[in-house]
Amino acid sequence: MRLGNVECSVLSDGEWRMDGGAIFGVVPKTLWEKVLPADELNRVPMALNCLLVISQGKRILVDTGFGRKLLPKKSKILALRHDHGDLLDNLGHLGYAPGDIDIVINTHLHPDHCGGNTILRDGVPVPTFPNAQYWIQRLEWADACYPNERTRNTYLTENLLPLRETGQLRLLHGDARVTDEVRCVVTRGHTRAHQSVIIESGGETSVFLGDLAARAVHLERLTWTTAFDTEPLETLETKRAMRDWALERHALLIFVHGVNMPSGYLWKEGDNFWVKAP
Ligand SMILES: [Zn+2]
Repeated sequence: MRLGNVECSVLSDGEWRMDGGAIFGVVPKTLWEKVLPADELNRVPMALNCLLVISQGKRILVDTGFGRKLLPKKSKILALRHDHGDLLDNLGHLGYAPGDIDIVINTHLHPDHCGGNTILRDGVPVPTFPNAQYWIQRLEWADACYPNERTRNTYLTENLLPLRETGQLRLLHGDARVTDEVRCVVTRGHTRAHQSVIIESGGETSVFLGDLAARAVHLERLTWTTAFDTEPLETLETKRAMRDWALERHALLIFVHGVNMPSGYLWKEGDNFWVKAP
């Protein structure tokens, strides 16, 4: 897709399955299963949508999926599938090698968003993208390096520490401009320093929401937030502001875990919001 002067491509790192209760938090199953039916293990299908943005000569990758380091046992638990290739395959289909990426932005450091940051070389994790700077919020980095009992399982050092060792880590202190057309904005709630990526060019706007709204229904309904959100009430207010902002600009929304709807536009009628495919 083209947004003004910017080229954007949603690139899949595969599909997996996640516990329905985890993705819909306090919402009763009787409500969420009408939107997204669960399988016999109570799991729902999840996409791993990453975004390649080419702006002012910079090749920018937003989120990196689970990547290639998972042990077979873990892949099986996640029911991870690559029917249409993984992130590196799909980058290759567009003609790009890992060395062509200039900037990697992680919305946050949960393993389904930064697992592809690193890859095993002779059994040792090293940065997958050798020429890239990795842009990560400073507070997210701190929370990942010093987790507590609740967050420990959601942060894996193998996805993080190799970036610092090679000098490829760039810590952000809040909102940050990437190019004249691309910027990172802190969208607090899922984690306290979660960030989204906004693209603005030629009067057109798009936003990669990350887990602020993992799927369209999370934006349509303010109270539907994941069980992983560390600050669910912050998520609610961040989503309220994001909805108003997106509606005003008719922004193209990109959903990281949306299976049938990786992107869409927000509409409002009365008090009801809904997302329509482009
Ligand atoms: Zn996620």
